[in-house]
Amino acid sequence: MPFSKLGLSPVILKNVVKQGYESIYPIQEQAIPALLKKQDVLGIAKTGSGKTASYVLPLLQNLEGSKPAKNRHVKALVLVPTRELAVQVSEVVDLFSEGLTSAVKSMAVYGGVSINPQMIKLQGVQLLIATPGRLIELVESKAISLSEVETLVLDEADKMLNLGFQEEVNKIIGLCPKKRQNVLFSATLSEDIDHITQLVLKNPVVIKIDSDADDIDKIVQTGYFISEEKKGPLLRYLINKENMQQVLVFTSSTFKADSVTEKLNKNGIEARAIHSKKSQGARLEALNRFKAGKTRVLVTTDLLARGIDIQYLPFVINYELPRSPKDYIHRIGRTGRAEASGEAISFVTPEDQHHFKVIQKKMKKWVTMVEGDGLV
Ligand code: AMP
Repeated sequence: MPFSKLGLSPVILKNVVKQGYESIYPIQEQAIPALLKKQDVLGIAKTGSGKTASYVLPLLQNLEGSKPAKNRHVKALVLVPTRELAVQVSEVVDLFSEGLTSAVKSMAVYGGVSINPQMIKLQGVQLLIATPGRLIELVESKAISLSEVETLVLDEADKMLNLGFQEEVNKIIGLCPKKRQNVLFSATLSEDIDHITQLVLKNPVVIKIDSDADDIDKIVQTGYFISEEKKGPLLRYLINKENMQQVLVFTSSTFKADSVTEKLNKNGIEARAIHSKKSQGARLEALNRFKAGKTRVLVTTDLLARGIDIQYLPFVINYELPRSPKDYIHRIGRTGRAEASGEAISFVTPEDQHHFKVIQKKMKKWVTMVEGDGLV
């Protein structure tokens, strides 16, 4: 189905074309008409499915045609688990807001940066993208009220709960009017998600985008048997040999992320680390440089395994394996997305071998193994 059949306004369609979206993704085909009609939607979909545009486009269209709320009263609220996702969603909103006949002021608020400038900027905001903790701070200091929220979006609800935001999310829901439109996206289903969907959604249109298996099939996976002390040389060898220009490297600790980054830089391969111990400014800068192709290697912990959209990321390397097979799939899912193919490489020490077998069994896919020690 072409985008033009969905009931979107000409200005929004023009922005869609400008983004180079030629065909519509399944989640958009199902979610956009429902959301334009103010129905509730439950989307079981992860990053890469096109879920952001599936709610941003109808949100903007519904807001454009409606009377603005009172000052410091938002009409649409998008709750997200991380600062990075808040910034990313806000960027998508900006892209699609261009040229709207009546401007829709939007803004992202998140913790880790000073609150005062956010309080000032909230004047006249109609569409707010927020992480739960900072939003509550802003409501409590009367910088914003949720009493006129007409649409509430919970994006990556599963991650929000995993990060321990359950209480905050409940509180925020309680601050919104009872009558409202609700949208909930989650990559996975679980008892907790079930609970929250029952609490929030009313007769939702349910959309399930089951793309894990397809995505994994598009990814070329290789494992390297390697001893711990040779991981650094093997990493440099592979980056150089395959002339990798954009590679995401996962470690299991912030300490390791920093030491791998330092070693790469010492050896003339530009790398940055991004993890929870870095300041918000440093995290954003590192991510932006990487997205812009200015930094060759981004080293991170599982913080980035979900949610962040880096278009056409060709390589992911597991310098250290994640503990859970689920995290392995999320990590390698950073590549091979949105029709592109990708390569995922895992370093497997003798101690990891059993665990890597468990991961493969859970994934229902066997990974080609290569002897790494002889290469470096
Ligand atoms: P998301 O799942 O929202 O993080 O989107 C994943 C990526 O797909 C983003 O880079 C979007 O810009 C891109 N995208 C979303 N919808 C389309 C579409 N219909 N055609 C082409 N690219 C799209």
